[in-house]
Amino acid sequence: MQVCVLASGSGGNAIYVQKGATRVLVDAGLAGREIDKRLRSIGVDVPKLMGIVVSHEHSDHISGVGILARKVQCPVWLTRGTFDAARSRFKGRERIRFFDNDQAFSIGDLSFQPFVISHDASDPVNFVIDDGQSRLGIATDMGVVSKLAFERLSTSDMVILESNYDREMLMTGPYPWSVKQRIQGSRGHLENTAASETLGRLIDGGLEQVVLAHLSEENNRRELALSASESVIASRGLRNYQLSVAEQDQPTPIFVI
Ligand SMILES: [Zn+2]
Ligand SMILES: [Zn+2]
Repeated sequence: MQVCVLASGSGGNAIYVQKGATRVLVDAGLAGREIDKRLRSIGVDVPKLMGIVVSHEHSDHISGVGILARKVQCPVWLTRGTFDAARSRFKGRERIRFFDNDQAFSIGDLSFQPFVISHDASDPVNFVIDDGQSRLGIATDMGVVSKLAFERLSTSDMVILESNYDREMLMTGPYPWSVKQRIQGSRGHLENTAASETLGRLIDGGLEQVVLAHLSEENNRRELALSASESVIASRGLRNYQLSVAEQDQPTPIFVI
């Protein structure tokens, strides 16, 4: 399986996953033109997409979905709750496919296992994606890592893990109190220390590769997110562990798992 995080953060999220001829986007939260550009930069033709899978209706995950789906004429996969909350983004010409939030489904050679997450959206999910040989876990937009989420993620070979904010930067930063409360609430986003604790538990279960993601531009710094996770990795005595950070402005390298 090949994986590339095309963009990550509150300005827009999209993850490209490929197995052979099966090419799928998980979320498309950038302008259609920008996603097209970033896919081309890694050598992928947008018309070859086989599907777009949507995690939830927040605009940083869905804003480009309608236009891309109409352009490519590929199906859009989402829960009914996400569709209902995002209905205005669709024009009736898209090929919509529903999945239940706990029911696996397949697109070509990739199997998707959705799982419910603790986030302030209508019916939000993350996924473990399986190509028959390896598994990719996606874990962003979660206020807390539930037992269910952890169980699902613990089977992954690589995890794209939210490390959204530094608590002190959030609390002393410019956001209004209500927004601060939302971000750090149980249905908000994952803080650096919570992310690194989760990473530690996943490493203990055998996780070999992690990409930190959905870093806040306002309430986090790359070095803070990295150092929280690096200290957990160091405490296990691991050297050369595969730790990366996904960016807002440019795609990651293509990971092969
Ligand atoms: Zn969200
Ligand atoms: Zn988000």
